[in-house]
Amino acid sequence: MPTLAELGEFEVIRRLAAVRGAPDASIVVDSGDDAAVVRPEPGGLVVLTTDGFVEGRSWRPGWIDPEALGARLAVANLSDLAAMGARPRWALLAAAVRADADVDALVGLQRGLARTLAADGARLVGGNVVAVEHEEAFHLTLVGHVHEGAVWRRAGARAGDLIAVTGHPGRAGAGVRLAARLGDGARDPRFGPLLDAWRSPRSRVALAGALGPLRAVRAAIDLSDGVPGDLAHLCEASGVGAVLDEAAFPDDAALLEAAEALGLPLDALRFGPSDDYELLLAIDPASRAACEAAAAQAAVAFAVIGRCAGDAAARTIVDRAGRERPIPGAGYEHFTRG
Ligand SMILES: [Mg+2]
Repeated sequence: MPTLAELGEFEVIRRLAAVRGAPDASIVVDSGDDAAVVRPEPGGLVVLTTDGFVEGRSWRPGWIDPEALGARLAVANLSDLAAMGARPRWALLAAAVRADADVDALVGLQRGLARTLAADGARLVGGNVVAVEHEEAFHLTLVGHVHEGAVWRRAGARAGDLIAVTGHPGRAGAGVRLAARLGDGARDPRFGPLLDAWRSPRSRVALAGALGPLRAVRAAIDLSDGVPGDLAHLCEASGVGAVLDEAAFPDDAALLEAAEALGLPLDALRFGPSDDYELLLAIDPASRAACEAAAAQAAVAFAVIGRCAGDAAARTIVDRAGRERPIPGAGYEHFTRG
Protein backbone atom coordinates (compact mmCIF):
# COMPACT_ATOMS: atom_id res chain seq x y z
CA MET A 1 0.00 0.00 0.00
CA PRO A 2 1.84 3.06 -1.20
CA THR A 3 1.19 6.19 0.86
CA LEU A 4 0.56 9.65 -0.50
CA ALA A 5 3.94 10.74 0.86
CA GLU A 6 5.67 7.93 -1.07
CA LEU A 7 3.99 8.61 -4.41
CA GLY A 8 3.74 12.39 -4.29
CA GLU A 9 0.92 14.69 -5.33
CA PHE A 10 1.26 14.42 -9.11
CA GLU A 11 1.33 10.63 -9.26
CA VAL A 12 -1.65 10.51 -6.88
CA ILE A 13 -3.58 12.90 -9.12
CA ARG A 14 -2.67 10.83 -12.17
CA ARG A 15 -4.04 7.68 -10.49
CA LEU A 16 -7.21 9.48 -9.42
CA ALA A 17 -7.76 10.82 -12.94
CA ALA A 18 -7.66 7.26 -14.28
CA VAL A 19 -10.86 6.33 -12.38
CA ARG A 20 -13.06 9.30 -13.24
CA GLY A 21 -15.11 7.51 -15.89
CA ALA A 22 -15.72 8.32 -19.54
CA PRO A 23 -16.07 11.94 -20.66
CA ASP A 24 -19.15 13.16 -22.46
CA ALA A 25 -19.80 15.88 -25.03
CA SER A 26 -20.79 18.44 -22.38
CA ILE A 27 -17.21 18.55 -21.08
CA VAL A 28 -15.27 21.12 -23.13
CA VAL A 29 -12.12 21.14 -20.97
CA ASP A 30 -11.64 18.13 -18.71
CA SER A 31 -9.67 17.90 -15.50
CA GLY A 32 -5.96 18.46 -16.13
CA ASP A 33 -6.19 22.17 -16.83
CA ASP A 34 -6.54 24.92 -14.23
CA ALA A 35 -10.31 24.49 -14.24
CA ALA A 36 -12.89 22.39 -16.04
CA VAL A 37 -15.15 23.95 -18.67
CA VAL A 38 -18.60 22.52 -19.35
CA ARG A 39 -21.44 23.34 -21.69
CA PRO A 40 -24.82 23.69 -19.96
CA GLU A 41 -27.98 22.67 -21.80
CA PRO A 42 -29.64 25.54 -23.61
CA GLY A 43 -32.67 26.77 -21.68
CA GLY A 44 -31.79 24.78 -18.58
CA LEU A 45 -31.20 26.18 -15.12
CA VAL A 46 -28.01 25.21 -13.29
CA VAL A 47 -28.40 23.61 -9.84
CA LEU A 48 -25.47 23.46 -7.41
CA THR A 49 -24.95 21.64 -4.12
CA THR A 50 -22.11 20.53 -1.87
CA ASP A 51 -21.90 18.07 0.97
CA GLY A 52 -19.01 16.36 2.70
CA PHE A 53 -17.92 13.79 5.24
CA VAL A 54 -15.42 14.25 8.05
CA GLU A 55 -13.60 11.29 9.61
CA GLY A 56 -14.71 10.44 13.14
CA ARG A 57 -17.85 12.46 12.67
CA SER A 58 -19.47 11.19 9.46
CA TRP A 59 -17.70 7.84 9.39
CA ARG A 60 -15.20 5.78 11.33
CA PRO A 61 -12.61 3.57 9.64
CA GLY A 62 -13.82 -0.01 10.06
CA TRP A 63 -17.49 0.89 9.52
CA ILE A 64 -17.22 1.34 5.79
CA ASP A 65 -14.67 0.58 3.07
CA PRO A 66 -13.31 3.40 0.90
CA GLU A 67 -15.26 2.48 -2.23
CA ALA A 68 -18.56 2.41 -0.31
CA LEU A 69 -17.64 5.71 1.36
CA GLY A 70 -17.14 7.26 -2.08
CA ALA A 71 -20.49 5.88 -3.25
CA ARG A 72 -22.15 7.24 -0.11
CA LEU A 73 -20.58 10.67 -0.67
CA ALA A 74 -22.01 10.64 -4.19
CA VAL A 75 -25.48 9.71 -2.92
CA ALA A 76 -25.41 12.45 -0.25
CA ASN A 77 -25.04 14.99 -3.04
CA LEU A 78 -27.20 13.21 -5.63
CA SER A 79 -29.97 13.19 -3.03
CA ASP A 80 -29.96 16.98 -2.84
CA LEU A 81 -30.29 17.24 -6.61
CA ALA A 82 -33.05 14.61 -6.65
CA ALA A 83 -34.90 16.70 -4.05
CA MET A 84 -34.74 19.68 -6.43
CA GLY A 85 -36.03 17.61 -9.35
CA ALA A 86 -32.67 18.12 -11.08
CA ARG A 87 -30.44 15.94 -13.26
CA PRO A 88 -26.85 15.67 -11.98
CA ARG A 89 -24.08 16.38 -14.51
CA TRP A 90 -20.65 17.41 -13.16
CA ALA A 91 -18.82 17.07 -9.86
CA LEU A 92 -15.65 18.25 -8.10
CA LEU A 93 -14.04 16.36 -5.22
CA ALA A 94 -12.08 18.18 -2.52
CA ALA A 95 -10.10 15.62 -0.51
CA ALA A 96 -8.17 16.38 2.69
CA VAL A 97 -5.96 13.39 3.45
CA ARG A 98 -3.02 12.47 5.65
CA ALA A 99 0.39 12.00 4.05
CA ASP A 100 0.52 8.46 5.44
CA ALA A 101 -2.86 7.55 3.92
CA ASP A 102 -3.08 4.60 1.55
CA VAL A 103 -3.27 5.77 -2.06
CA ASP A 104 -5.18 2.62 -3.04
CA ALA A 105 -7.88 3.58 -0.51
CA LEU A 106 -8.14 7.05 -1.99
CA VAL A 107 -8.37 5.61 -5.51
CA GLY A 108 -11.03 3.18 -4.23
CA LEU A 109 -13.03 6.08 -2.81
CA GLN A 110 -12.85 7.90 -6.13
CA ARG A 111 -13.85 4.72 -7.98
CA GLY A 112 -17.00 4.33 -5.81
CA LEU A 113 -17.75 8.00 -6.26
CA ALA A 114 -17.31 7.99 -10.06
CA ARG A 115 -19.32 4.78 -10.53
CA THR A 116 -22.24 6.08 -8.47
CA LEU A 117 -22.23 9.46 -10.21
CA ALA A 118 -22.08 7.78 -13.62
CA ALA A 119 -25.17 5.67 -12.84
CA ASP A 120 -27.10 8.96 -12.63
CA GLY A 121 -25.42 10.65 -15.61
CA ALA A 122 -22.82 12.72 -13.75
CA ARG A 123 -19.03 12.76 -13.92
CA LEU A 124 -16.09 14.08 -11.93
CA VAL A 125 -14.44 16.89 -13.87
CA GLY A 126 -11.80 17.79 -11.33
CA GLY A 127 -10.88 18.18 -7.73
CA ASN A 128 -8.16 18.98 -5.26
CA VAL A 129 -6.11 17.06 -2.72
CA VAL A 130 -4.68 18.77 0.37
CA ALA A 131 -2.66 17.28 3.23
CA VAL A 132 -4.03 17.32 6.79
CA GLU A 133 -2.47 16.26 10.10
CA HIS A 134 -5.51 14.70 11.74
CA GLU A 135 -9.04 13.84 10.57
CA GLU A 136 -9.52 13.28 6.85
CA ALA A 137 -12.43 14.88 5.00
CA PHE A 138 -14.03 14.56 1.56
CA HIS A 139 -16.29 17.21 0.12
CA LEU A 140 -18.10 16.92 -3.18
CA THR A 141 -19.59 19.73 -5.22
CA LEU A 142 -22.26 18.56 -7.63
CA VAL A 143 -23.77 20.57 -10.46
CA GLY A 144 -26.87 19.64 -12.43
CA HIS A 145 -29.64 20.80 -14.67
CA VAL A 146 -33.32 21.43 -14.29
CA HIS A 147 -35.79 22.94 -16.70
CA GLU A 148 -37.40 26.20 -15.73
CA GLY A 149 -40.75 25.47 -14.13
CA ALA A 150 -39.70 21.96 -13.12
CA VAL A 151 -37.74 22.91 -9.98
CA TRP A 152 -38.96 21.24 -6.79
CA ARG A 153 -38.61 23.33 -3.68
CA ARG A 154 -39.35 22.96 0.02
CA ALA A 155 -41.98 25.65 -0.45
CA GLY A 156 -45.11 24.80 -2.44
CA ALA A 157 -47.02 22.28 -0.30
CA ARG A 158 -50.68 23.11 0.30
CA ALA A 159 -53.15 21.99 2.96
CA GLY A 160 -54.56 18.62 1.88
CA ASP A 161 -51.45 17.54 -0.04
CA LEU A 162 -50.29 14.03 0.77
CA ILE A 163 -46.94 13.53 2.51
CA ALA A 164 -44.98 10.64 1.01
CA VAL A 165 -41.59 9.09 1.74
CA THR A 166 -39.39 6.74 -0.20
CA GLY A 167 -37.57 3.85 1.45
CA HIS A 168 -37.69 3.15 5.18
CA PRO A 169 -36.99 6.29 7.23
CA GLY A 170 -34.85 5.81 10.32
CA ARG A 171 -32.89 2.83 9.06
CA ALA A 172 -29.59 4.62 8.44
CA GLY A 173 -29.56 6.23 11.90
CA ALA A 174 -30.44 2.88 13.46
CA GLY A 175 -27.53 1.26 11.59
CA VAL A 176 -25.07 3.80 12.98
CA ARG A 177 -26.41 3.38 16.52
CA LEU A 178 -26.10 -0.39 16.25
CA ALA A 179 -22.52 -0.14 14.98
CA ALA A 180 -21.60 2.28 17.80
CA ARG A 181 -23.29 0.25 20.52
CA LEU A 182 -22.76 -3.35 19.47
CA GLY A 183 -19.52 -3.23 17.46
CA ASP A 184 -19.18 -6.59 15.71
CA GLY A 185 -22.58 -7.59 17.18
CA ALA A 186 -24.13 -5.22 14.67
CA ARG A 187 -23.14 -7.66 11.92
CA ASP A 188 -26.06 -9.89 12.94
CA PRO A 189 -27.97 -10.59 9.68
CA ARG A 190 -31.19 -9.31 11.31
CA PHE A 191 -29.64 -5.84 11.18
CA GLY A 192 -28.36 -6.17 7.61
CA PRO A 193 -30.97 -3.84 6.06
CA LEU A 194 -30.13 -1.15 8.63
CA LEU A 195 -26.37 -1.27 8.13
CA ASP A 196 -26.93 -1.36 4.36
CA ALA A 197 -29.20 1.70 4.57
CA TRP A 198 -26.36 3.62 6.19
CA ARG A 199 -23.45 2.11 4.26
CA SER A 200 -25.00 1.87 0.80
CA PRO A 201 -27.88 4.34 0.41
CA ARG A 202 -29.51 4.42 -3.04
CA SER A 203 -29.82 7.55 -5.10
CA ARG A 204 -33.41 8.61 -5.84
CA VAL A 205 -32.46 10.62 -8.93
CA ALA A 206 -34.11 8.14 -11.32
CA LEU A 207 -37.35 8.17 -9.33
CA ALA A 208 -37.33 11.97 -9.20
CA GLY A 209 -36.86 11.95 -12.99
CA ALA A 210 -39.91 9.68 -13.35
CA LEU A 211 -42.06 11.75 -10.97
CA GLY A 212 -41.17 15.11 -12.54
CA PRO A 213 -43.29 14.79 -15.71
CA LEU A 214 -46.33 13.79 -13.60
CA ARG A 215 -46.42 17.34 -12.24
CA ALA A 216 -47.58 15.81 -8.96
CA VAL A 217 -44.83 16.96 -6.61
CA ARG A 218 -45.64 20.30 -4.95
CA ALA A 219 -42.73 20.36 -2.48
CA ALA A 220 -39.73 18.15 -1.78
CA ILE A 221 -36.80 17.71 0.58
CA ASP A 222 -34.35 14.87 1.05
CA LEU A 223 -34.09 13.09 4.38
CA SER A 224 -30.57 13.92 5.50
CA ASP A 225 -31.39 14.67 9.16
CA GLY A 226 -34.46 12.59 10.02
CA VAL A 227 -38.20 12.76 9.39
CA PRO A 228 -39.17 15.28 12.14
CA GLY A 229 -36.51 17.86 11.26
CA ASP A 230 -36.77 17.57 7.49
CA LEU A 231 -40.57 17.54 7.58
CA ALA A 232 -40.44 20.69 9.73
CA HIS A 233 -38.22 22.38 7.11
CA LEU A 234 -40.71 21.55 4.35
CA CYS A 235 -43.69 22.65 6.47
CA GLU A 236 -42.06 25.93 7.48
CA ALA A 237 -41.06 26.76 3.92
CA SER A 238 -44.58 25.93 2.68
CA GLY A 239 -46.52 27.49 5.57
CA VAL A 240 -48.42 24.27 6.29
CA GLY A 241 -48.66 21.82 9.18
CA ALA A 242 -48.46 18.03 9.06
CA VAL A 243 -50.62 15.22 10.42
CA LEU A 244 -48.98 11.81 10.05
CA ASP A 245 -50.69 8.43 10.21
CA GLU A 246 -48.75 5.84 12.20
CA ALA A 247 -50.52 2.92 10.52
CA ALA A 248 -49.42 4.18 7.09
CA PHE A 249 -45.69 3.82 7.84
CA PRO A 250 -44.17 0.81 6.12
CA ASP A 251 -43.78 -2.19 8.44
CA ASP A 252 -40.12 -2.52 9.28
CA ALA A 253 -39.18 -5.70 11.11
CA ALA A 254 -35.47 -4.80 11.07
CA LEU A 255 -36.14 -1.46 12.75
CA LEU A 256 -38.25 -3.18 15.40
CA GLU A 257 -35.45 -5.67 16.07
CA ALA A 258 -32.97 -2.82 16.40
CA ALA A 259 -35.22 -0.92 18.82
CA GLU A 260 -35.40 -4.04 20.96
CA ALA A 261 -31.64 -4.66 20.82
CA LEU A 262 -30.90 -1.04 21.72
CA GLY A 263 -33.59 -0.88 24.42
CA LEU A 264 -35.28 2.05 22.69
CA PRO A 265 -38.86 2.74 21.68
CA LEU A 266 -39.45 2.31 17.92
CA ASP A 267 -40.19 6.05 17.68
CA ALA A 268 -36.64 6.87 18.81
CA LEU A 269 -35.34 5.20 15.64
CA ARG A 270 -38.14 6.01 13.20
CA PHE A 271 -38.12 9.67 14.21
CA GLY A 272 -34.50 9.85 15.36
CA PRO A 273 -31.58 11.50 13.59
CA SER A 274 -31.00 9.55 10.38
CA ASP A 275 -29.31 10.43 7.11
CA ASP A 276 -31.36 8.12 4.93
CA TYR A 277 -31.02 10.17 1.73
CA GLU A 278 -34.60 9.29 0.89
CA LEU A 279 -37.17 11.75 -0.50
CA LEU A 280 -39.94 13.39 1.52
CA LEU A 281 -42.56 14.77 -0.86
CA ALA A 282 -45.79 16.72 -0.72
CA ILE A 283 -47.92 15.45 -3.59
CA ASP A 284 -51.19 16.40 -5.22
CA PRO A 285 -53.76 13.88 -3.86
CA ALA A 286 -55.18 13.44 -7.37
CA SER A 287 -51.81 12.06 -8.52
CA ARG A 288 -51.30 9.52 -5.75
CA ALA A 289 -51.86 6.45 -7.92
CA ALA A 290 -49.58 7.77 -10.66
CA CYS A 291 -46.80 8.44 -8.13
CA GLU A 292 -47.20 4.98 -6.62
CA ALA A 293 -47.03 3.42 -10.07
CA ALA A 294 -43.86 5.39 -10.92
CA ALA A 295 -42.24 4.24 -7.66
CA ALA A 296 -43.25 0.62 -8.28
CA GLN A 297 -41.80 0.87 -11.79
CA ALA A 298 -38.54 2.19 -10.30
CA ALA A 299 -38.64 -0.56 -7.62
CA VAL A 300 -38.51 2.04 -4.84
CA ALA A 301 -40.57 1.68 -1.64
CA PHE A 302 -43.00 4.59 -1.50
CA ALA A 303 -45.49 5.26 1.29
CA VAL A 304 -48.02 8.02 1.87
CA ILE A 305 -47.56 8.66 5.60
CA GLY A 306 -49.81 11.65 6.20
CA ARG A 307 -51.19 14.88 4.94
CA CYS A 308 -50.42 18.61 5.04
CA ALA A 309 -52.64 20.60 7.39
CA GLY A 310 -53.92 24.16 7.16
CA ASP A 311 -52.82 24.84 10.74
CA ALA A 312 -49.16 25.68 10.15
CA ALA A 313 -48.30 24.85 13.78
CA ALA A 314 -49.64 21.27 13.57
CA ARG A 315 -46.95 18.55 13.80
CA THR A 316 -48.85 15.52 14.98
CA ILE A 317 -49.13 11.81 14.40
CA VAL A 318 -52.31 9.77 14.78
CA ASP A 319 -51.68 6.33 16.27
CA ARG A 320 -53.50 3.10 15.42
CA ALA A 321 -56.12 3.80 18.12
CA GLY A 322 -56.89 7.22 16.63
CA ARG A 323 -55.08 9.21 19.34
CA GLU A 324 -53.13 12.26 18.22
CA ARG A 325 -49.74 13.16 19.73
CA PRO A 326 -46.88 15.45 18.75
CA ILE A 327 -44.38 13.99 16.26
CA PRO A 328 -41.50 12.85 18.47
CA GLY A 329 -37.85 13.81 18.06
CA ALA A 330 -36.05 16.57 16.28
CA GLY A 331 -33.56 15.90 13.47
CA TYR A 332 -29.81 15.94 13.62
CA GLU A 333 -28.32 19.36 14.16
CA HIS A 334 -24.57 19.44 13.58
CA PHE A 335 -23.66 22.16 16.03
CA THR A 336 -25.83 21.52 19.07
CA ARG A 337 -25.74 17.74 19.34
CA GLY A 338 -23.00 15.18 19.64
MG1 LIG B 1 -31.03 18.22 1.39
